[in-house]
Amino acid sequence: MILLKWKNHRLVSFALVFAGTGHLLPAFVAMRGSTFPDQIEESFLSPTWAKNHRKGTHYWAYYMVPILLCAASIGHFLLYLPKEVIVTKLTTEPQEFLIRLAVYLGMWFCIGALLHVVEDFICGKVPGLTIEQRIGFHLFRVGTPQEYLWSYLIIASVIFSRFYSDVIFVYGL
Ligand SMILES: [Zn+2]
Repeated sequence: MILLKWKNHRLVSFALVFAGTGHLLPAFVAMRGSTFPDQIEESFLSPTWAKNHRKGTHYWAYYMVPILLCAASIGHFLLYLPKEVIVTKLTTEPQEFLIRLAVYLGMWFCIGALLHVVEDFICGKVPGLTIEQRIGFHLFRVGTPQEYLWSYLIIASVIFSRFYSDVIFVYGL
């Protein structure tokens, strides 16, 4: 059984990343990544899906390590790039720019997947320090009005904070 509805994973992840970065591109990419842990389970582990649900695919370290590697390898590219700089870089060193862009988008995809794990963590059990260890809360039951209530609450507070505070995380493209 999928813990949180995919629609809510997408909405919450999009809202969180948009609030953190103030940019639509990373928010859309993270939204795409936010159903990835369940999707790989469905496509590769179907016969034993129920048994293996939320094990390796929901292990935070598998997403955290690529995120850190991507962030380290693109460094200042994470900072806000004005449109003129993007155009200049794209024309003068297109290859380097496109590689960095791919790494940047890959990082946000993994951040979306990591958010999925965190979102599952608040309504069920996911791996802790090791894959076998199970940790999590049961804040609400899946498919109940509470799931929607919590999702909308998170989205509303994120949007609210977006309007009343400066960008708190990275700027991005
Ligand atoms: Zn899941």
